[in-house]
Amino acid sequence: MNARPQLKSLALDRLRDQFAAEGLPRYRADQVAAWIYQRGVEDPRGMTDLSHELRAHLQGSWALRALEVERVDYSSDGTAKAALRTHDDLLVEAVWIPEEDRTTLCVSTQIGCAMACSFCATGSMGFARNLTSAEIVDQVCRMREVVGSGRTPSNVVFMGMGEPLLNLDAVVEAVRLLIDPKAFGLAPRRVTVSTVGVVPRIGALLERVPINLAISLHATTDEVRSRLVPLNRRYPLEALLGALRGLDSVTRRRPVFFEYTLIAGVNDSVEDARRLPALLAGIPSKVNLIPMNPHPDSPYAPPEAAVIDDFLAALAGRGLTVTLRRSRGPDIQAACGQLALRTRAASAA
Ligand code: SF4
Repeated sequence: MNARPQLKSLALDRLRDQFAAEGLPRYRADQVAAWIYQRGVEDPRGMTDLSHELRAHLQGSWALRALEVERVDYSSDGTAKAALRTHDDLLVEAVWIPEEDRTTLCVSTQIGCAMACSFCATGSMGFARNLTSAEIVDQVCRMREVVGSGRTPSNVVFMGMGEPLLNLDAVVEAVRLLIDPKAFGLAPRRVTVSTVGVVPRIGALLERVPINLAISLHATTDEVRSRLVPLNRRYPLEALLGALRGLDSVTRRRPVFFEYTLIAGVNDSVEDARRLPALLAGIPSKVNLIPMNPHPDSPYAPPEAAVIDDFLAALAGRGLTVTLRRSRGPDIQAACGQLALRTRAASAA
């Protein structure tokens, strides 16, 4: 266990305050951030424009790495999934997804998840703990180093293990570093935080950081959604979608992304497709359809191609923007809903 505080847990304004409290010039925080987040240098000895005293201070007082790489699996489609080890010997997963025009990194926010969604491998492993903001940020640093040849991903999605809004403060702090021009410098529209619908925290997230919101919807009736996403019993569809309609930050801003995992015989009927547009009325929406990625612990399977075609046809011309998302990295269990499989198998072993 590393007892020194994690420097990456502080967004830049807080790091400046911290340096000032220690009697250091505030601009030194900007210099340190540039070394770590822009140049990928985490050893203070390599931060050559800092004084020897400050380098020694950083080395002695702060931990600059929160995660170590345990293993990286590469998919035949170029996707890479890493298992990263925390200081208390737990594993967390991140997925690097290269595409023609962008590179997306999917990060985790918790180890395990308490939400117990029935189609999701992470949900079946239970909850261990929240990740710190340093551990969230370090997924970007480690993946950039081991998979990206030093390149920062163009997009970051909070869709890995865990429910981000149940770790809101750490997520916000990590996002602030991602979108700070003096840290990673990503455009806010290139950062997406996904939730299964922790209704009271959605507004708080969007007020604190101007990023994209994704909702894991997965059903058009409360009966089916409660089976797939148990949190729906506490915040049913009307409460979730009504709350979104009531948020200025939603109705006046970018569209909300609705993730919809298509599961054979569960939520893939033409009636489901016909219900969707009315359900999402009044919310600027984009719907991502994702055929279920099967895994051994799940009774669910993806629909046949013809059923997916019928679902799409029933949605056509109904005013919704719909994309069918091809899963990435299913051969390494890196696809949506599959995270945690190998990690859990390795832990058991
Ligand atoms: S889908 Fe998301 S919220 Fe649900 S169990 Fe999996 S990780 Fe948790």
